[in-house]
Amino acid sequence: MTEGFDPWDEIAIIGIGLQGASIAINARERGLAKRVVVGDISKTNRERALELGLCDYATADLADAVKNADCIFISVPLGAMASVGQEIGAALKSGSIVTDTGSTKQSVIKDLGSYIPSDVHFVPAHPIAGTEYSGPDAGFLTLFQDRWLIITPPPGTDNNALNRVRNFWEACGSMIEIMEPAHHDQVLAVTSHLPHLIAFAIVGTASDLEDHLMQEVVKFSASGFRDFTRIAASDPVMWRDVFLNNKDALLECSARLSEDLARLSRAIRWGEGEQIESLILRAREIRQALIEAKQV
Ligand code: NAP
Repeated sequence: MTEGFDPWDEIAIIGIGLQGASIAINARERGLAKRVVVGDISKTNRERALELGLCDYATADLADAVKNADCIFISVPLGAMASVGQEIGAALKSGSIVTDTGSTKQSVIKDLGSYIPSDVHFVPAHPIAGTEYSGPDAGFLTLFQDRWLIITPPPGTDNNALNRVRNFWEACGSMIEIMEPAHHDQVLAVTSHLPHLIAFAIVGTASDLEDHLMQEVVKFSASGFRDFTRIAASDPVMWRDVFLNNKDALLECSARLSEDLARLSRAIRWGEGEQIESLILRAREIRQALIEAKQV
């Protein structure tokens, strides 16, 4: 048992993919919950979760999954948050806590929050920790270790519930930041959503090349392209939902990027070496700042 965390008698994890499975492994290996129940629409993933020992019980009936849980972790794609809320709302135990791992926070508060009864605490959260893999086999113990976990409490959030969620994530090795939901969505648009959008676009551009060029791209991919393909291998459903649920902040970022790209292209066209060099220098400084903040 992790010292300092009073374990929950029962937790429910709705969606046993990369995030849900990593939560289950942490809960079990660190003794943060006495019993783990899984609710998931996928029969294959439920069966695999039981095989891997991630939970004591798994069901497709989400109301059944949450009915005795002290804390419920919702880790389904953003587009499924509202339907999950609708299925579990009436079954939630009075005094229990609902939290989530969704990558955008305003949309989750709108889609899920409206189904949470007033005697249940809602503490929206987002682990800034992921990989390009999905499903229960993708989960691992150290996913959240030394990673940020952002909590975006709506006004009036119960302090004890917020602290329980904070302490759970601290026990998983996370560092905690509290943020306004809108601010979270703006920050993540820059740090996560825009880089994914760029990676999907670049890999798409390459795949439209004529056959003989494409073969060379694969052969010589180590010169930069390869790093983009790792990000571009991410789950299509998850990223479709992230883009659609953070539309305003993402479109603002991509408009700025288009301007910056046009400025850089112009500098290349007109041979403005100094301008090109100063832009690359600024980018290097940002990389250095990440290294100093131990985020690399
Ligand atoms: P994942 O590996 O694809 O797992 C999601 C699980 O939820 C799958 O088992 C899926 O079944 C199931 N599911 C889908 N719709 C459902 C529904 N209506 N009811 C019950 N179960 C349902 O996803 P993930 O990567 O763990 O992501 C989960 C959440 O965390 C998302 O909101 C995502 O934005 C967020 N997040 C992801 C990352 C990352 O890097 N992956 C990082 C931070 C936050 P099927 O496979 O049959 O669809």
